[in-house]
Amino acid sequence: MRQFTGKPVSPGYARGNAFLLDRFAFPMIPHRVIDAAAVDAEQTRFQLAVERSVEELQELKARVLAELGHAQSAIFAAHLGLLRDQTFTDSVLSRMSTELVNVEHALHMEVNALCRMLTSVENAYIRERAQDIRDIGARVMKHLVEFGAGSCIELPPKSVIVTQELLPSETMDMDRKHVAAIVTEEGGENSHAAILARALAIPAVTGIVDATAQIAPGTELLVDGEQGIVTATPSTTAQRDFTNLKTHYDEDMSAAVAARGLQCETRDGTRVSLLANLNRPQEVDLVAAHHLDGVGLFRTEFLFLDAMAPPSMETHLDVYRQLVDGLQAGPLVIRTLDLGGDKIPPFLQADNEKVSKIAARGLRFSLIERALFETQLRAILTAAQGCDRIRVLLPMVLGKSDLEAAIETIRSVAREVGTSSVPSIGAMIETPSALFALHEILELAEFVSIGTNDLTQFMLAADRMDVGMTEDFSVLHPSVLRAIAEVVHAAGEAGREVCICGEAASYPRTACLFVGMGVRQLSMSPIRTARVRFLLRAMTRRHLEELADGALRSDTPAAVQKLLAGLTAEPVNDESPS
Ligand code: PEP
Ligand code: MG
Repeated sequence: MRQFTGKPVSPGYARGNAFLLDRFAFPMIPHRVIDAAAVDAEQTRFQLAVERSVEELQELKARVLAELGHAQSAIFAAHLGLLRDQTFTDSVLSRMSTELVNVEHALHMEVNALCRMLTSVENAYIRERAQDIRDIGARVMKHLVEFGAGSCIELPPKSVIVTQELLPSETMDMDRKHVAAIVTEEGGENSHAAILARALAIPAVTGIVDATAQIAPGTELLVDGEQGIVTATPSTTAQRDFTNLKTHYDEDMSAAVAARGLQCETRDGTRVSLLANLNRPQEVDLVAAHHLDGVGLFRTEFLFLDAMAPPSMETHLDVYRQLVDGLQAGPLVIRTLDLGGDKIPPFLQADNEKVSKIAARGLRFSLIERALFETQLRAILTAAQGCDRIRVLLPMVLGKSDLEAAIETIRSVAREVGTSSVPSIGAMIETPSALFALHEILELAEFVSIGTNDLTQFMLAADRMDVGMTEDFSVLHPSVLRAIAEVVHAAGEAGREVCICGEAASYPRTACLFVGMGVRQLSMSPIRTARVRFLLRAMTRRHLEELADGALRSDTPAAVQKLLAGLTAEPVNDESPS
C-alpha cells in the first residue's frame, strides 16, 4: 500500500483503477521551414482550423449550459473569446510569415510563449489560466494534425484518471459514467478542470507529485476528495476505513441535498443566513439553485487579473448589473479590488518599477492605485442607485486611517456621481492589525466580514497554501478562534452585523462552532452549503454554545478537533479544515 497526499479540489470519495492519460504519447508536432509562397496556404489552414474549433466550442458551450449551467458554460465562452480575439490569432499568423514556419509549429510556439508568460506570474489564479491556453491550443491542433485530443473518450468502468494535468475540454469529453475520480500532478483549485469536476460531482485531487510515474495503469486506488489523499493498493484496514468514510459522506450528502430547500436553522429555531461567495457574475444562478439568502462576498479581482488594460467603468457596471438582475433577493456584497502581493494585474506587471513601489495589498493598494479604485466605486455607486441591496466591502483593512480614507473616497465619488444614497460600507477583518483596531473599525464600518483564509495565514505565520492543510495551520488553532470570538463579541456590542466569509465557514463542523460563538451569517462557495445546512439543522443552539465554550478554552488545535468530532457519529477529520 502507498499513500499520496495532494490538494483536494472536488469533494467526495471514490474507488477505482488507475487509467493513465499520457498526453506526451501524442505524435510530435511537425516542424518545417516553408517558402514565402507557401505562407498563404498555411495561413488558410490555420483559419479553417480556428473556424472548426469555434463551431465545436459553440456546441460544447451550449451542451455545458444545458447540462451544468451558466457558470460552467462561461469557461468555454472564454475559450471562444480567445479564439475570436485577433491578438492571439494574429500572433500565430505573423509567426508563420516572419519566421517562415508551418502552422503547427507556429501555433505550438505561440501557445508555449503565452503559457510561459502566465506560469511565471506569482498569482495562482493567473497561472491556472495557462491550462485554458493549452486546451485551446490542443483543440486547434487537433484540426491540424491527426491526433485526437479526446484520447480518454473510451474508458473501462470505474476509471480513476491519473494525468499530469487535465484540460477543461477533456473533463467534458470523457466518458463520464466511467470516471470514478481524477488525480493530477498539476492544476489548482481554481483551474477550470477543477471547477468542472466539482460541477460534475467527480472527486478530484491535484498536486500529487509524479503521479503518472508512481502509479501504474490498473492500480487499485482510493481517492479521498475531502482530505486530498490517494491510496494505492490499499490494505484491508485502509479499505474498511475508506468504506466507512464514503458511506457516511454519501448518506450525509443525499440527506443534505434533500434538505436543500429547508430553512437554515438549528433544531431549536436559531436562524443562520447562508450566503454565497462568488468569483464571477455568471455564478449568480447558483444562489437560487442552492436556496441561499444572497451574496456575502463577490470577489472582483477577475476584472483586473483577466484584463490586459484597466477595466472601464462600463465593464464594471455591466458585471454589477448582471448580478443585480440575476439575484432574486437578498444582499449583494461587492468587495472592492483586493490586489497587490501576488495579485498584480497583467497591465501593471510590465511596469516593474511601479509594481515594486506598490508594496501594499488590499485596501492600501487601492489607496495608492486610486484610479482603479475610483473607477470601480463609480460603477458600484451607479449600480446602487435605486438598488438598496448592494453593499461595499473593503478588503485587508488595517485600522482607522485606511478605513477613514476609503470612506472619504467613497463619499467623494458619490458626490461626483450625484447620488445621496451611499451603500452600507463594511470592513474585512483579516489582518492581525485589524484585530487591534476593532473598536475604531466598528465605529466607522456598518458591518464586518471575517476573512479566515488570510486571518489564519497572518496570525499563524503560515503559507496560505498550508492554511487548512495541517493541524497547526488550521483556523481551529485556539488563538485564531479566540480572535474570531473577540470580533463577534465586539461587533455585537457595537450593534454591527458580522459574517464569516473564509473557506472555514464551509466545513460543517467548523460552521457549527462559529454559530455556537454567535455568528449568524456564513458565506461560502455555493456547492458547500448543503452539508452545512444539514448539520446545523441537527444541532441545538445550547449544544453549540457549550461546544464553543469548550473550544475557546482549549489549548491546542487537536483538542478543538476532538470536541468537534463529537458533533456527529462520524470519524474525526472528515470535514474540519485540519
Ligand atoms: C479570506 O481571506 O478569508 C477571504 C474571504 O478573502 P480571499 O479568500 O478572497 O482572500
Ligand atoms: Mg482575504
